Amino acid sequence: MRAAVVTKDHRVDIIDKKLRPIKFNEAKVKMEYCGVCHTDLHVKNADFGDVTGRTLGHEGIGKVIEVGSDVTTLKVGDRVSVAWFFKGCGHCEYCVNGQETFCRSAQNAGYTVDGGMAEECIVDADYAVKVPEKLDPAKASSITCAGVTTYKAIKVSHIKSGQWIAIFGMGGLGNLALQYAKNVFNAKVIAIDINDEKLAVAKKLGADEVINGKEVDVVQKVKEITGEGVQSTVITAVSKVAFNQAVDIVKAAGRVVAVGLPTDTMDLSIPRLVLDGIEVVGSLVGTREDLREAFEFGAQGAVDPIVALRPLEDINDILEEMEQGKITGRMVIDFSK
Ligand code: NAD
Ligand code: ZN
Ligand code: ZN
Repeated sequence: MRAAVVTKDHRVDIIDKKLRPIKFNEAKVKMEYCGVCHTDLHVKNADFGDVTGRTLGHEGIGKVIEVGSDVTTLKVGDRVSVAWFFKGCGHCEYCVNGQETFCRSAQNAGYTVDGGMAEECIVDADYAVKVPEKLDPAKASSITCAGVTTYKAIKVSHIKSGQWIAIFGMGGLGNLALQYAKNVFNAKVIAIDINDEKLAVAKKLGADEVINGKEVDVVQKVKEITGEGVQSTVITAVSKVAFNQAVDIVKAAGRVVAVGLPTDTMDLSIPRLVLDGIEVVGSLVGTREDLREAFEFGAQGAVDPIVALRPLEDINDILEEMEQGKITGRMVIDFSK
């Protein structure tokens, strides 16, 4: 079967790869779609370490074609997801207290185990979240990482109905962060990007205010709009500048939720942290339950991922377009093409 694998020289090759036989607790999935996340770009570039030979992909959607002897939760024909949180140990502190994505021995699809950017993929039956029938499978791919990650980040932001939240980055994650914040959490949203095209989409999706960080002083503009600053902010931008601005735009006792993964450090003034009691917290994808909820909001139409379908052969072009900031919404590999 064809699989998109990371090469030593930071490219992606489409190779012919043979899957091992499935184990008693696993299922084999015939992939239909797989979204291309900015994390795939980090993985390909070895930003988190070299994974040469690994099959990429953690926004995978496909149908079960084979189940192991002990599997009771999945059957042939079920539509399931292949997400970044591929599997936890199942018994550590994090796995049992509702924070399973932080399991110290968690496996991640498309990074520590082969992912969904291949014609077939092996999943652990207990961890592959089912996709609601009413949800378009191509759009479900985008929710499998971008959607669940931002849905969870907004939960972590503690935003309440009617409060101001600012979202940095209106890319694959950001446009969904905006939709969850507005349509599920009923927040007032300031969308921030450095690209007018993405901000125009944000405006269409219902952003209350949009700010182009290249053209105006973000901190000053947010203060003009809100008075004291926003209650919370979620940073999906892959930029240190955005992280530093985020710390400056929250009001006293506000929350900064870090999601984007630039390989960098942020500046955090200790007096700002202490005297204004702000909170800075990281948020990593979402649990299986978060994903189930995030899918459900998609199925109900509260969020509508923006996707464009591409053949697997386009993967290097897609990653290049992403690096250049040219993609609006998500590019999704369509395995029927
Ligand atoms: P993307 O490339 O689709 O979007 C990034 C957006 O940030 C673009 O629209 C870009 O124009 C904008 N941007 C760049 N500089 C900016 C600035 N200074 N201010 C405001 N906006 C700016 O990427 P994506 O797929 O949305 O992923 C974003 C980041 O989130 C990546 O680093 C990815 O690895 C990370 N990520 C984290 C998690 C998690 O669990 N924490 C999950 C998925 C992705
Ligand atoms: Zn991702
Ligand atoms: Zn664990």
